[in-house]
Amino acid sequence: MKPETLKSEPILGIDLGTTNSLVGVVDSGFPILLADETGSRSTPSVVGLAEDGKISVGAVALRQRALHPTRTITSVKRLIGRRPGEAGWTPPYSLSDLKTSPVEVSAEILKHLKAVAERALEQPVSRAVITVPAYFNDAQRNATRRAGELARLEVLRILSEPTAAALAYGLDKLGEHQKVAVFDLGGGTFDISVLEMREGTFQVLSTAGDTQLGGDDIDRLLAEFISDRLKLPPNDIRVLEGAESVKKRLSNDETASFHGLHITRAELERIARPWIERTRLHCLRALSDAGLKPEQLDEVILVGGSTRMPLVRDYVRELFQREPNTSQNPDEAIALGATIQAGILGGSLRQVLLLDVTPLSLGIETFGGLMNIIIPRNTTIPAKAGEMFTNAVANQDNMLIRILQGERELAKDNWELGRIEVPFPAGPKGSARVGVQFSLDANGILNVLARDTATNTDSTLEISGTAIDVEDERVEQMIAESVDFAFEDMNERIWTEAKLKAEELLPAVDAALAQLGESTEVRECAAEVRRLLDSPEHNAAALKAANQKLDDATQSLAVMLIERAMEESLVRRGLV
Ligand code: ADP
Ligand code: MG
Repeated sequence: MKPETLKSEPILGIDLGTTNSLVGVVDSGFPILLADETGSRSTPSVVGLAEDGKISVGAVALRQRALHPTRTITSVKRLIGRRPGEAGWTPPYSLSDLKTSPVEVSAEILKHLKAVAERALEQPVSRAVITVPAYFNDAQRNATRRAGELARLEVLRILSEPTAAALAYGLDKLGEHQKVAVFDLGGGTFDISVLEMREGTFQVLSTAGDTQLGGDDIDRLLAEFISDRLKLPPNDIRVLEGAESVKKRLSNDETASFHGLHITRAELERIARPWIERTRLHCLRALSDAGLKPEQLDEVILVGGSTRMPLVRDYVRELFQREPNTSQNPDEAIALGATIQAGILGGSLRQVLLLDVTPLSLGIETFGGLMNIIIPRNTTIPAKAGEMFTNAVANQDNMLIRILQGERELAKDNWELGRIEVPFPAGPKGSARVGVQFSLDANGILNVLARDTATNTDSTLEISGTAIDVEDERVEQMIAESVDFAFEDMNERIWTEAKLKAEELLPAVDAALAQLGESTEVRECAAEVRRLLDSPEHNAAALKAANQKLDDATQSLAVMLIERAMEESLVRRGLV
């Protein structure tokens, strides 16, 4: 079997809705929704069970609803995973009389969607991501999963509807802790969810809603209005369907007519307003459960076919005091999000998030006030790097690590992001071993781990946001300064390093001279180092050269020291 001839099987993204269901797939890197043979990308979530055992799904089943109301199953999502009576809704049919179950009916819808996809893709499919409302409990989620399996679909993930919607709106690119309200008004249900972006995924902070509130209610009220004017029997399914069609047209047009009756958008809005206003309490509740005020939200997105109504958009704008995001088709957003999730799972979509780079270098301050870079600027995240450090002076029992961001050579010219202290047992200079590791995750959260390897004690610090989110202007300014001061900075760095070296050499030289007697050459070299150290000039190159000379001169001193030590030991042992 040649691997290149194996066309990888796509994973379906499915919105199994109360009123409508949709299916999509990622094709050549793009999420697309699939149309059935009539060209429709949306299938009514309706199943007809004829007396002869024939099963119809979608538009076909919906058309027979008027004829066979007790054999036409609608809104089965309200019943799935619930015990009888628990849904608080009495359907116009009896599933037990029909000898079926919500799982079996949902499986019929899923089988239909699978067939739509297989026909469009001209290949078999066996895996899917299916969305459910955020408030669905384990029983409802498991029942949905079983429906998938019954339809011969391996359910790779059960995804929350608001999360799917947020993915479709591209909000996964939002920064850490950004908050989104998802306002979903469908055919029969209203859901409001507040999400927060945490570590690259959406967390549902709160959900609220009304399982008995949606576009169907508006259709019913408008049907009453129409049948009243036209003296038609109310509850007639044809009037109801006519009302829905009028309602949809009034989302675009100012007037629409039904059997010669002209209906204006203002009339519809007068009828619909009290129902739309019912969403208010749920929205306030969800906000208060999430501990947020409307102004603390970063986005409000609209989902569900009923949010196409201008009245709903106006109402949401007023309620949340902001312009809702309407950049996606509200009735397709959940399916699109499920498809994107399926694409990510299947590896055919990459999360763009991972391509972020560090705008500025990250490092720590080392002895003498220098910047020691651990993760250079423009490193692709996630990234991980570390280094070992030791104590610069004897008897030190802790190390203060200042975490810095910036391009300057000296610590003081960079920005401090945080600091941690690492304790370790006191000992001679150079005896401590402290490993410092920076790991920057895909969201730009920097975790600093400092470990004393002698005792294996860890000190950690989490820095969120600032490592990646730096205003462009500040980044530009930092880089410009690092270029402007490049010469001075480099001189300062060499100076500091030379100064540290001199401060280490001089006491050692003094001790050696005291032990071994004078050496004019060494004395002169040491004096030159001292003069340069005290000079306000900070001549880095000269100090470096003087250090080298002193070091060379003491080489002979060191040889003498060793000879003297050997001699002494021989004397002690009585060999001389
Ligand atoms: P669900 O999530 O319940 O499956 P949908 O998101 O598909 O539902 O929304 C279906 C509802 O949206 C129906 O009540 C339908 O009448 C309504 N709807 C669809 N398009 C429009 C429109 N253009 N204007 C107003 N309502 C619409
Ligand atoms: Mg929906």
